[in-house]
Amino acid sequence: MYLKNIHLRQFRNYQEQKVEFTAAKTILVGNNAQGKSNLLEAVELLATLRSHRMARDRDLVKEGEDVAQIHATLERETGISDLTLTLRRNGRRSVALNSESLRRHMDFLGVLNAVQFSSLDLELVRGGPEGRRNWLDTLLIQLEPVYAHILQQYNHVLRQRNAYLKKNQDSPSTQQSELAVWDAQLATTGTRVIRRRDRAIQRLAPIAAAWHANISGSTEVLEIKYAPSVPLVQNQPEEVQQAFLTKIQQRAVAELYRGTTLVGPHRDEVELTINQTPARQYGSQGQQRTLVLALKLAELQLIEEVVKEPPLLLLDDVLAELDPSRQNQLLDTIQDRFQTLITTTHLSSFDSQWLNSSQILFVKAGE
Ligand code: ATP
Ligand code: MG
Repeated sequence: MYLKNIHLRQFRNYQEQKVEFTAAKTILVGNNAQGKSNLLEAVELLATLRSHRMARDRDLVKEGEDVAQIHATLERETGISDLTLTLRRNGRRSVALNSESLRRHMDFLGVLNAVQFSSLDLELVRGGPEGRRNWLDTLLIQLEPVYAHILQQYNHVLRQRNAYLKKNQDSPSTQQSELAVWDAQLATTGTRVIRRRDRAIQRLAPIAAAWHANISGSTEVLEIKYAPSVPLVQNQPEEVQQAFLTKIQQRAVAELYRGTTLVGPHRDEVELTINQTPARQYGSQGQQRTLVLALKLAELQLIEEVVKEPPLLLLDDVLAELDPSRQNQLLDTIQDRFQTLITTTHLSSFDSQWLNSSQILFVKAGE
C-alpha cells in the first residue's frame, strides 16, 4: 500500500500542511520539537485510531482550536481510498472513507496499515505489562479490525463491574445476583479478547524468533508467550468462559475487599524470554534493542501476511539508537518493500545511496 499524500489541519503544531509523498522512503529532518513525530503520529492515528504516545484528543488538536483534521489518500491494490479523521477538543471523533462518514470506527480500521517503531518501544522489554498489552491490542486491531469492537465491549463491562464493586466495597450484603450478571458478561467478552490475543501471539512468536536469531547471529532463543489470567483449556470458547467464571468465584472475596476486578485480560501478560530468562533481566541495552527490532520486523511481516499487502513503516528516531550493523539490517529489510517514513535530527546517519533514493522533507515549526 502506498500513502500518496496527507493533509493536516489544526493538528498538533500544524496549522495547515499538505504533504505529497513522492518516494517509497521519506526522511523527515529537523531540529527537536518541530513536528516530525507529530506527522508520524497523524499517520499512526489513521491506521489504528490510537496514538502510542497515549495522547488525549485535546492534546492532538492545535492549541487554541477546537477541531483537527487528518486527511490522506492511500493507494492499495484494491483501489484508491480517501481517509478523513476529525478530532475534537471534547473527544468526539468522526471518520470518513471516500467522503462518506462511517458510523462504526472499525470500518475505518484496516484501510491503512502501519507499524510504528520509536524509542518508546524499548519500553516493551523494560516496562510493565500494560505497555505490552497495548502493543498487542494495537497489532490485533490491524490484523482484525473487529477486535477494536470486542475490546471496547470488554472494557465497557469491566468499567461497569468495577464501579459496582467499588460501590459495594464496604457493604457485605452485596446483591450477588447483580454481580453474577456482570460476571457472565465479563467472562463472555473477556474470553473473546483472550483467545484472539493468544492466537496473534502464536502467529507472531515464530516470526519474531527467526528475526531475532538472524539479527543477533546467535543461538539464543527468543520465546513469546501470552500468559492469560485464565487458563486457555482446550481453547474452546465455552470452556474458557467456564474457567473464567471459576476463577472469578475464587477471587470473589478479594475483589469485593479491594473493590476492583482482579481476573481478566486487563491483567494478562505477554512474556518475552531469551533462553528462558525474562528479557527484562537479560543482556545489555543493545541486546534489548535487538529484541524490539525483531518484534517490529515480525509485526511488519505478520501484517503483510494477513492483509496481503506490505504495511507502512514509521520509524521515529530509532536509527540513532541502533548500532551500524542493526541499522543496516533494518534498512536492508526495508529497501523498497515497505513505504517508510523516517524522522531524524541529522542526515548524517544515512549513506548516500539512501539519501539519493529518498524524498527529504525539512520540518520546521509545523511546516
Ligand atoms: P524531536 O526531535 O524532539 O522528537 P519532533 O520534531 O519530533 O522533535 P514533535 O513531537 O513532532 O517534535 O513536535 C513537538 C512540537 O509540537 C512541540 O513544539 C510542541 O509544543 C508542539 N505541539 C504538540 N502538541 C501541540 C498542540 N496541541 N498544539 C500546538 N502545538 C503542539
Ligand atoms: Mg520526535
